[in-house]
Amino acid sequence: MADLPDRVKYLVIGAGVHGLSSAWHLAKEQRARGEEPDVLIVDKTGIGAGASGIACGVVRNNYFQPAMSELMAANVEVWEQDPPGFSYHPVGYVALGCGAQVDDLTAVYERQQRIGYPSELIVGADAVRSHMKEMFPDWRAQGVEVCLHEEKGGYANNMASMQGLAKKAQEAGARLVTGVTVTGFDMDDSGAVKTVQTDQGDIAVEQVVVGVGPWIASLWEMLGLSDRIDVRTPEGDVHKDQEMWTYWYLQEGEISVDPKLLSLPDGSMPPVLHVDSDAPLYDDDGKLITDELWGNYFKQDPHGVQGGAAPIIVGHEFEVDPYPTASVESSFADMWCASLSHCMERFEGKRGTYANVRSGGVGCFTAASFPIFDDMRPNVYVIADSNHGYKMIGVGREVAQVMTGGHSSVLYPFRYERFATGDLHPVSNSPYPWS
Ligand SMILES: Cc1cc2nc3c(=O)[nH]c(=O)nc-3n(C[C@H](O)[C@H](O)[C@H](O)COP(=O)(O)OP(=O)(O)OC[C@H]3O[C@@H](n4cnc5c(N)ncnc54)[C@H](O)[C@@H]3O)c2cc1C
Repeated sequence: MADLPDRVKYLVIGAGVHGLSSAWHLAKEQRARGEEPDVLIVDKTGIGAGASGIACGVVRNNYFQPAMSELMAANVEVWEQDPPGFSYHPVGYVALGCGAQVDDLTAVYERQQRIGYPSELIVGADAVRSHMKEMFPDWRAQGVEVCLHEEKGGYANNMASMQGLAKKAQEAGARLVTGVTVTGFDMDDSGAVKTVQTDQGDIAVEQVVVGVGPWIASLWEMLGLSDRIDVRTPEGDVHKDQEMWTYWYLQEGEISVDPKLLSLPDGSMPPVLHVDSDAPLYDDDGKLITDELWGNYFKQDPHGVQGGAAPIIVGHEFEVDPYPTASVESSFADMWCASLSHCMERFEGKRGTYANVRSGGVGCFTAASFPIFDDMRPNVYVIADSNHGYKMIGVGREVAQVMTGGHSSVLYPFRYERFATGDLHPVSNSPYPWS
């Protein structure tokens, strides 16, 4: 049996980015108030066992939704506190888009200037090509009309960063016990949770944080919350009885090459690249892969070059255990390798180096595809990040602030109530559900 206390002030469920960051900041907050930290993280498997331990690890600001952009700037502040400790590479991020995305990326750029997030906007195919050729002399992507180059952000190594975050939480005084599955909640008449039931015994609690990533539907149900919801649009239309959760499979992969193949001319690590193009995509043998809008993203990795492309909708029901990974179809490998070669000549002929490694996985999106960060019971804070959240290492800082009596203006736009009020986030022209 796991060594669990009978009672704890703050119980955090899930040792992914959100659980670990919340626990770290709650413990720090308690110490700052002169209290002995009383924070326990439980995870049914282990540190980084879910989406955080498999994420591509991209940290970017580029979001069409103003509230997402502001939240991302807050997250980058936390990543920058200790890049080596978080295995974080602050190499920047480049988003390239086709003609239909010029207005969206321009709006993002203008907002970044207003909030003081450093970036550069380049518009027009020729100007974009020369900007990219300075970094990658063999750049040859077509169908790209706009480039947003963010100076900040970059990526972190998924498992190493989670280990680093767990270390910080523990050093701050939080306890972590793995191999403990939460199975239910005992609530009083007000809906406040008194006891958390686990397969290793019950724990009396004062406050609970739920950060269970793609497992959110089961915890949501345990909290007695509905898996259907009425969604009011900003225009005032009400879509009745919508599914609360939708699973997407994120297709990602890797080519096993010398990582230096994707370097800047001086040998240093390049920014993370994200390309959306409306040019026809062919493989190296001239076979048409697609003539519709396509997108990819890629970055240097310790074992080569890693990245992904369009996700696949799985549906509203999904068995998350065992957590699925490395299960992409060969058509993904063909498409992603063709897209790399489309962008840079150095990737021509590299389809044969595609490696079927642990990469890709499932994410759970809310009814509006953006996070819910809210008190869903009087003493239960739920972090349902709608699969946006590896980069959101700062959400735990904000959650700790809210749970200790403060307010967070960056979390406020993600309250649950917005589905009823129509205060939803705007939708962009990107082919992805997360931009
Ligand atoms: C393939 C892939 C690539 C991604 N790439 C990026 C990216 O580049 N950038 C980005 O910002 N985001 C990315 N994301 C999204 C991001 O990974 C997730 O949004 C984020 O990691 C979710 O963190 P979390 O802490 O909520 O959950 P998780 O990291 O999934 O952690 C949840 C934890 O809860 C535990 N748990 C579940 N149920 C229970 C229970 N009943 N009792 C006890 N413990 C339980 C699990 O074991 C798990 O360890 C990606 C996602 C995927 C799938």
